[in-house]
Amino acid sequence: MDYDRFFADRLSALRGEGAYRVFADLERQVGAFPKARNYRDGKVSDVTIWCNNDYLGMGMSDHVIGAMCEATKATGAGAGGTRNISGTNHYHVLLEQELADWHNKDSALLFTSGYVANMTTLMTLGGRIPDLVIFSDEKNHNSMIEGVRHSRAPKEIFKHNDVEDLDRRMAKYPKEHPKLVAFESVYSMDGDIAPLREIVDCAKAHNALTFLDEVHAVGMYGERGSGVAERDGVADEIDIIQATMGKAIGVIGGYIAGKADLIDFVRSFGNGFIFTTSLPPSVASGALASVRYLKDHNDLRLRHQERAATLKRRFTEANIPIIPSVSHIVPVLVGDAKLCKQASDMLLNDHGIYVQPINYPTVARGTERLRVTPTPLHTDADMDHLVDSFMEVWGRLGIQMAA
Ligand SMILES: *Cc1c(COP(=O)(O)O)cnc(C)c1O
Repeated sequence: MDYDRFFADRLSALRGEGAYRVFADLERQVGAFPKARNYRDGKVSDVTIWCNNDYLGMGMSDHVIGAMCEATKATGAGAGGTRNISGTNHYHVLLEQELADWHNKDSALLFTSGYVANMTTLMTLGGRIPDLVIFSDEKNHNSMIEGVRHSRAPKEIFKHNDVEDLDRRMAKYPKEHPKLVAFESVYSMDGDIAPLREIVDCAKAHNALTFLDEVHAVGMYGERGSGVAERDGVADEIDIIQATMGKAIGVIGGYIAGKADLIDFVRSFGNGFIFTTSLPPSVASGALASVRYLKDHNDLRLRHQERAATLKRRFTEANIPIIPSVSHIVPVLVGDAKLCKQASDMLLNDHGIYVQPINYPTVARGTERLRVTPTPLHTDADMDHLVDSFMEVWGRLGIQMAA
């Protein structure tokens, strides 16, 4: 086998499809969010980031930065071990208590990322609950798909947000047969939200455990900001709430929250929890400060929703084709991988606007898009510039406008 040839060929095929990923080389600027410096071809320019997953700018807040600096100075750079072997710092304990309280659950458990939280939890439950069948929404994130796959539990993939299909599939098994339903609240590529009440009722009717990924909702929905389950009044009926501290919380890390023994089970048997160094105490301290802030700043959420609604209206008025979304995510349809990449390049190079193209396999072919995520800190002037720039690029490339 000619290995060099193999790698080169596969990469050039990816380039041919317009699916090759090029990272923007950015330097975020404290005090200037959502602006950043962009390093490209030996030059540096200012750009406005419009595809932030730091949805509320918490990663740039003095409050969070201060907590991280203080904890680093007081307790050092790294945790110094796995959770079991000298790596449990008091900040981890405080953060787990805070997260459990946020979701109104007995316990919470930290992981080094949301990805690891999903994968480890689903692998552990799927691999260790005898005969468990996992029912997984077809649009679930890769971290859940891999968790289900590696658990080797039998699975049923149900149609996206389709409670009838879920019900039909669960009805094939006796009520006492162990089941788990894995789904998300906000789906981040289309910005749609699952019918949580209906899914929970269906799951309970079949005596199934419920596993909800609130990665794109924590910090942003509900009066106390703990997610869509809180907003919809179903949090108490969800067995496992999973989320990240890397998006709206603004730092890094993942977690699950649920009943004491279930969480203790994952703590005791989850390899992706046990066999890895715990998060730096500064990260736990920063996330703690962020969650405490988010809990009692509903004003930030109202401003966020207002910004998203305003941007949707502005795009609609300009005939820029947005995919209808009921969340803070504003997907703009391009429908072709190469055009999508070109549009993104033009916005960056000619207009100082950074929106990463989203292509296959993240979304289906023919639905390639620019996924815009306004934050509470994007101004009306930022939006004027964004909409004008999109119109110019759409015209120049001849991309389909809205009907
Ligand atoms: C980003 C993401 C994750 C992974 O979270 P990280 O903390 O970034 O690893 C999990 N689920 C969904 C739906 C995501 O979008």
